[in-house]
Amino acid sequence: GTPTRALFMLFGGTGDLALRKLYPAIFNLYKKGSLSNDHFALIGLSRKELTDDEFRAKIIDSVSSEADQPEQAQAFASHFYWKSHDVTNNDHYSELSDLADQLEAKYATEGNRVFYVSMAPRFFGIVAQSLHDQGVLSTNGGFNRLVIEKPFGRDYASAKELNDALTSAFNENQIYRIDHYLGKETTQAIPVLRFGNPMLEAVWNHEYIKDVQVTLAEKLGVEDRAGYYDTAGALRDMIQNHTLQIVSYLAMDQPNSFVDTEIRREKVKALESMEIYDAEGVKQNFVRGQYGAGPDSVPYREEPGVPSDSNNDTYAAGKIVFNNHRWGDTPFYIRSGKKLADKQGRIDIEFKKPLVDIFAKGTKQPAELQGNVLSFYIDPKIGVTLSVNTKDSEQGLHTETIDLNYLQGADRAAQVPLPYERLFHDILTGDGTYFASWPEVAAAWKFVDPVQKLWDQEPGDFPNYESGSMGPKAADDLLARDDNQWYWPH
Ligand code: NAD
Repeated sequence: GTPTRALFMLFGGTGDLALRKLYPAIFNLYKKGSLSNDHFALIGLSRKELTDDEFRAKIIDSVSSEADQPEQAQAFASHFYWKSHDVTNNDHYSELSDLADQLEAKYATEGNRVFYVSMAPRFFGIVAQSLHDQGVLSTNGGFNRLVIEKPFGRDYASAKELNDALTSAFNENQIYRIDHYLGKETTQAIPVLRFGNPMLEAVWNHEYIKDVQVTLAEKLGVEDRAGYYDTAGALRDMIQNHTLQIVSYLAMDQPNSFVDTEIRREKVKALESMEIYDAEGVKQNFVRGQYGAGPDSVPYREEPGVPSDSNNDTYAAGKIVFNNHRWGDTPFYIRSGKKLADKQGRIDIEFKKPLVDIFAKGTKQPAELQGNVLSFYIDPKIGVTLSVNTKDSEQGLHTETIDLNYLQGADRAAQVPLPYERLFHDILTGDGTYFASWPEVAAAWKFVDPVQKLWDQEPGDFPNYESGSMGPKAADDLLARDDNQWYWPH
């Protein structure tokens, strides 16, 4: 399409996320031409006092590894401006509005404004409201789009309060809630694999699928993020947002067409049909963990910045039951944790076994037929595999299970656009397909809240899994009760 013209205002402009992810993403859009090379500008904001040149030096540094030549990074950075800004000072918003008007005229950005709030979450609401109240929104025909980083609240009540603040200044269709898992290659392929292949969609229900497993496993521990992480935990940091978003694309019904409004309608329907547990249900269907020592690893409670009596969950697993016709009694198992055996985000869809195993009798060495397993690899490996039963090539008839394999190596994974690049592209084109709408966020919090509430009330029996393992034994028991087991690792 035609390159989009836009003026960006980035709050938290020298922050870790901005320098590591956001500027390289915008730079790639610039390189590939979906952002107009002449008609764009960016105002970076935080309390810091910087000159434009000092800011541009940081930008060049941030994008240089993506640049074809140094001149390209310099040309890009020449569109960047710095504004020292305190988010609580109204005069600063008026000054910002003046600067925005000037740059809009200079770069002919046609009134298109993207406001990206990459700051501590407590500032999300005040920035949005002040932009509106102090007249920083464009009024001359372009778009105003507000981008909000995670986390979006810490329970339903705080998320609702934040959302009320945002929607007093912006409409829902102007708000882009970032969930970078939705910018990943494989996540974006789920709807196409499902709704583009009748042979999959035809069996995508409780009649053929035994269970669905979503795993977001991390190898790293808390690193230097204890200040944030110890107040959040795995349930809030990984399950409520990323995991349940992935679940929604797996569980939803077919939208009428692949446009954001239709997709969101189906995602919400799916999320709202999750059974919400009472305290007893939480005990039966959720498992928490906190890592202890392991080879080369200290326990979570001895990590820098973590209280020695921390009750925080570094692992969470659960079983989702959908009260709807498609899923019936087919469970979705979800889990995420730190300090696990390997880093991999993946989805394993386990199909039921054939009703009758006609090969079990009469073959020389009968091997049991296995249920098909369709696996989506999200990160760092990407791709799809499907296990099928066939025969081996030995004399006589012996069945065996093989993988049909579209698994991409790390090289290929490194070439696909990064999540933030895709998401920025969609923000510029106004496509909300891979962003979380408010009703989805609300439904996810309503599902997670009773779990978090119980875990806050009753201290965990921690530590309960070894660093470098696959998590607490109770998470295996959770599946064993249904006669299931985690497919990965196997
Ligand atoms: P950071 O602390 O590195 O940067 C925050 C920025 O806000 C800084 O530029 C700081 O100067 C500015 N700031 C703080 N208080 C201010 C005030 N009163 N007025 C004006 N400016 C102020 O944070 P970050 O790691 O870049 O994270 C930014 C956002 O992105 C957060 O919402 C975070 O949860 C989210 N996020 C970050 C990462 C990551 O990898 N860093 C990952 C996921 C989500």
